[in-house]
Amino acid sequence: MTRRDLLLASAALPLAAETPPLSGEKALMKLKLGNRRHAESRPLRPHQNMTWRMSLTQAQHPFACVLTCADSRVPPEFLFDAGLGDLFVVRVAGNIVDDAVLGSLEYAVEHLHVGLIVVLGHERCGAVAATVEGGASHDHVASLLKAIQPAVEAARRQKGNLLENAIRENTARAVRQLQSSRPVLNKAHDEHKLVISGGVYDLDTAKVDWLS
Ligand SMILES: [Zn+2]
Repeated sequence: MTRRDLLLASAALPLAAETPPLSGEKALMKLKLGNRRHAESRPLRPHQNMTWRMSLTQAQHPFACVLTCADSRVPPEFLFDAGLGDLFVVRVAGNIVDDAVLGSLEYAVEHLHVGLIVVLGHERCGAVAATVEGGASHDHVASLLKAIQPAVEAARRQKGNLLENAIRENTARAVRQLQSSRPVLNKAHDEHKLVISGGVYDLDTAKVDWLS
Protein backbone atom coordinates (compact mmCIF):
# COMPACT_ATOMS: atom_id res chain seq x y z
CA MET A 1 0.00 0.00 0.00
CA THR A 2 1.41 3.38 -0.98
CA ARG A 3 1.23 6.49 1.17
CA ARG A 4 -1.40 7.88 -1.26
CA ASP A 5 -3.53 4.72 -0.89
CA LEU A 6 -3.34 5.07 2.86
CA LEU A 7 -4.42 8.69 2.72
CA LEU A 8 -7.36 7.82 0.45
CA ALA A 9 -8.38 4.98 2.73
CA SER A 10 -8.12 7.16 5.79
CA ALA A 11 -10.30 9.85 4.16
CA ALA A 12 -13.29 7.52 4.38
CA LEU A 13 -12.86 6.90 8.08
CA PRO A 14 -13.28 9.24 11.06
CA LEU A 15 -10.05 11.08 11.68
CA ALA A 16 -8.56 11.92 15.02
CA ALA A 17 -8.98 15.62 14.24
CA GLU A 18 -12.75 15.10 13.77
CA THR A 19 -13.25 13.50 17.17
CA PRO A 20 -15.37 15.90 19.24
CA PRO A 21 -13.91 16.91 22.62
CA LEU A 22 -15.30 15.03 25.62
CA SER A 23 -16.50 16.60 28.86
CA GLY A 24 -14.55 15.61 31.98
CA GLU A 25 -17.44 13.43 33.18
CA LYS A 26 -17.74 11.57 29.87
CA ALA A 27 -13.98 11.16 29.65
CA LEU A 28 -13.95 9.63 33.15
CA MET A 29 -16.72 7.21 32.15
CA LYS A 30 -14.69 6.25 29.08
CA LEU A 31 -11.66 5.49 31.26
CA LYS A 32 -13.80 3.42 33.64
CA LEU A 33 -15.20 1.37 30.77
CA GLY A 34 -11.70 0.89 29.33
CA ASN A 35 -10.38 -0.29 32.68
CA ARG A 36 -13.25 -2.75 32.97
CA ARG A 37 -12.35 -4.24 29.57
CA HIS A 38 -8.70 -4.46 30.65
CA ALA A 39 -9.54 -6.11 33.98
CA GLU A 40 -11.85 -8.60 32.24
CA SER A 41 -9.16 -9.42 29.64
CA ARG A 42 -11.32 -8.36 26.70
CA PRO A 43 -9.49 -5.26 25.41
CA LEU A 44 -10.52 -3.60 22.15
CA ARG A 45 -7.05 -2.07 21.70
CA PRO A 46 -8.54 0.94 19.87
CA HIS A 47 -6.77 3.52 17.77
CA GLN A 48 -3.66 1.55 16.96
CA ASN A 49 -3.94 0.92 13.23
CA MET A 50 -2.05 2.81 10.55
CA THR A 51 -5.04 4.82 9.33
CA TRP A 52 -5.63 6.23 12.79
CA ARG A 53 -1.92 6.82 13.31
CA MET A 54 -1.69 8.82 10.11
CA SER A 55 -4.68 10.94 11.11
CA LEU A 56 -2.65 12.04 14.13
CA THR A 57 0.44 13.24 12.33
CA GLN A 58 -0.49 16.95 12.38
CA ALA A 59 -2.37 17.32 15.66
CA GLN A 60 -3.39 15.59 18.87
CA HIS A 61 -6.75 15.61 20.66
CA PRO A 62 -6.37 13.45 23.78
CA PHE A 63 -9.56 13.05 25.82
CA ALA A 64 -7.85 12.73 29.22
CA CYS A 65 -4.61 13.40 31.10
CA VAL A 66 -3.16 10.74 33.37
CA LEU A 67 -0.47 11.45 35.96
CA THR A 68 0.92 8.13 37.14
CA CYS A 69 4.00 6.33 38.38
CA ALA A 70 6.95 5.31 36.18
CA ASP A 71 6.47 1.70 37.35
CA SER A 72 6.62 -0.67 34.36
CA ARG A 73 3.39 -2.40 35.42
CA VAL A 74 1.11 0.61 35.09
CA PRO A 75 1.15 1.94 31.50
CA PRO A 76 -2.12 3.93 31.26
CA GLU A 77 -2.86 2.99 27.66
CA PHE A 78 -3.02 -0.66 28.74
CA LEU A 79 -4.89 -0.12 32.00
CA PHE A 80 -7.56 2.01 30.28
CA ASP A 81 -7.57 0.12 26.97
CA ALA A 82 -6.76 3.28 25.01
CA GLY A 83 -4.70 3.96 21.91
CA LEU A 84 -2.49 6.46 20.15
CA GLY A 85 -3.49 10.06 20.73
CA ASP A 86 -6.08 9.17 23.39
CA LEU A 87 -4.22 9.95 26.60
CA PHE A 88 -1.85 12.76 27.54
CA VAL A 89 0.38 10.92 30.00
CA VAL A 90 2.80 12.29 32.59
CA ARG A 91 4.79 9.66 34.43
CA VAL A 92 7.17 10.09 37.35
CA ALA A 93 8.05 7.71 40.19
CA GLY A 94 5.46 8.01 42.97
CA ASN A 95 3.21 10.17 40.72
CA ILE A 96 4.46 13.24 42.56
CA VAL A 97 3.57 16.79 41.55
CA ASP A 98 6.41 19.20 40.75
CA ASP A 99 6.72 22.20 38.46
CA ALA A 100 7.56 20.11 35.37
CA VAL A 101 4.47 17.96 35.99
CA LEU A 102 2.30 21.04 36.50
CA GLY A 103 3.66 22.67 33.34
CA SER A 104 2.91 19.54 31.32
CA LEU A 105 -0.67 19.33 32.62
CA GLU A 106 -1.24 23.05 32.16
CA TYR A 107 -0.24 22.68 28.52
CA ALA A 108 -2.77 19.89 28.02
CA VAL A 109 -5.58 21.83 29.68
CA GLU A 110 -4.86 25.23 28.11
CA HIS A 111 -3.79 24.25 24.62
CA LEU A 112 -5.29 20.79 24.04
CA HIS A 113 -8.50 21.58 25.98
CA VAL A 114 -8.45 18.33 27.92
CA GLY A 115 -11.33 18.22 30.42
CA LEU A 116 -10.08 15.47 32.72
CA ILE A 117 -6.95 14.80 34.76
CA VAL A 118 -6.65 11.50 36.60
CA VAL A 119 -3.95 10.91 39.21
CA LEU A 120 -3.31 7.19 39.31
CA GLY A 121 -1.42 5.66 42.21
CA HIS A 122 -0.85 1.93 42.35
CA GLU A 123 -0.58 -0.95 44.77
CA ARG A 124 2.91 -1.82 46.10
CA CYS A 125 4.44 1.41 44.76
CA GLY A 126 8.20 1.19 45.29
CA ALA A 127 8.64 4.94 45.66
CA VAL A 128 6.03 5.12 48.44
CA ALA A 129 7.40 1.95 50.06
CA ALA A 130 10.91 3.46 50.13
CA THR A 131 9.53 6.56 51.81
CA VAL A 132 7.69 4.45 54.40
CA GLU A 133 10.92 2.56 55.11
CA GLY A 134 12.63 5.91 55.60
CA GLY A 135 15.91 5.03 53.92
CA ALA A 136 18.20 8.04 53.59
CA SER A 137 19.09 8.83 50.03
CA HIS A 138 22.03 10.94 48.91
CA ASP A 139 21.14 10.96 45.22
CA HIS A 140 18.25 12.40 43.24
CA VAL A 141 15.87 9.81 44.71
CA ALA A 142 15.87 12.04 47.79
CA SER A 143 13.67 14.57 45.98
CA LEU A 144 11.05 11.87 45.35
CA LEU A 145 11.06 10.69 48.97
CA LYS A 146 10.77 14.28 50.20
CA ALA A 147 7.71 14.86 48.00
CA ILE A 148 6.02 11.67 49.23
CA GLN A 149 6.92 12.18 52.92
CA PRO A 150 3.84 14.29 53.87
CA ALA A 151 1.54 11.51 52.62
CA VAL A 152 3.40 8.94 54.71
CA GLU A 153 3.16 11.16 57.80
CA ALA A 154 -0.60 11.48 57.29
CA ALA A 155 -0.91 7.71 56.79
CA ARG A 156 0.94 7.02 60.06
CA ARG A 157 -2.02 8.65 61.87
CA GLN A 158 -4.52 6.31 60.15
CA LYS A 159 -5.63 2.81 61.05
CA GLY A 160 -4.91 -0.12 58.74
CA ASN A 161 -2.02 -1.00 56.46
CA LEU A 162 0.55 1.80 56.44
CA LEU A 163 1.78 1.31 52.85
CA GLU A 164 -1.74 1.01 51.41
CA ASN A 165 -2.88 4.10 53.30
CA ALA A 166 0.23 6.03 52.23
CA ILE A 167 -0.40 5.17 48.58
CA ARG A 168 -4.01 6.36 48.80
CA GLU A 169 -2.96 9.48 50.71
CA ASN A 170 -0.20 10.26 48.19
CA THR A 171 -2.73 10.00 45.35
CA ALA A 172 -5.37 12.09 47.13
CA ARG A 173 -2.80 14.76 48.01
CA ALA A 174 -1.71 15.01 44.37
CA VAL A 175 -5.36 15.48 43.36
CA ARG A 176 -5.71 18.33 45.87
CA GLN A 177 -2.41 19.89 44.74
CA LEU A 178 -3.65 19.95 41.15
CA GLN A 179 -7.07 21.31 42.13
CA SER A 180 -5.45 24.25 43.92
CA SER A 181 -2.62 24.86 41.47
CA ARG A 182 -2.56 28.47 40.29
CA PRO A 183 -3.05 29.99 37.82
CA VAL A 184 -4.31 27.48 35.26
CA LEU A 185 -5.61 24.27 36.82
CA ASN A 186 -7.48 25.80 39.78
CA LYS A 187 -9.23 28.26 37.43
CA ALA A 188 -10.36 25.57 34.98
CA HIS A 189 -11.43 23.37 37.90
CA ASP A 190 -13.36 26.18 39.63
CA GLU A 191 -15.09 27.04 36.35
CA HIS A 192 -16.16 23.39 35.95
CA LYS A 193 -14.19 23.04 32.72
CA LEU A 194 -11.87 20.48 34.27
CA VAL A 195 -12.51 17.37 36.36
CA ILE A 196 -9.56 16.25 38.51
CA SER A 197 -9.97 12.77 39.91
CA GLY A 198 -7.84 10.08 41.54
CA GLY A 199 -7.64 6.32 41.76
CA VAL A 200 -5.38 3.48 42.84
CA TYR A 201 -4.61 0.62 40.49
CA ASP A 202 -4.76 -2.86 42.00
CA LEU A 203 -2.02 -5.05 40.51
CA ASP A 204 -3.87 -8.24 41.50
CA THR A 205 -7.32 -7.49 40.06
CA ALA A 206 -6.19 -5.00 37.35
CA LYS A 207 -9.01 -2.72 38.52
CA VAL A 208 -8.78 0.94 39.45
CA ASP A 209 -10.25 1.74 42.87
CA TRP A 210 -11.52 5.30 42.35
CA LEU A 211 -11.17 7.76 45.20
CA SER A 212 -14.44 9.33 46.32
ZN1 LIG B 1 5.06 3.37 41.82
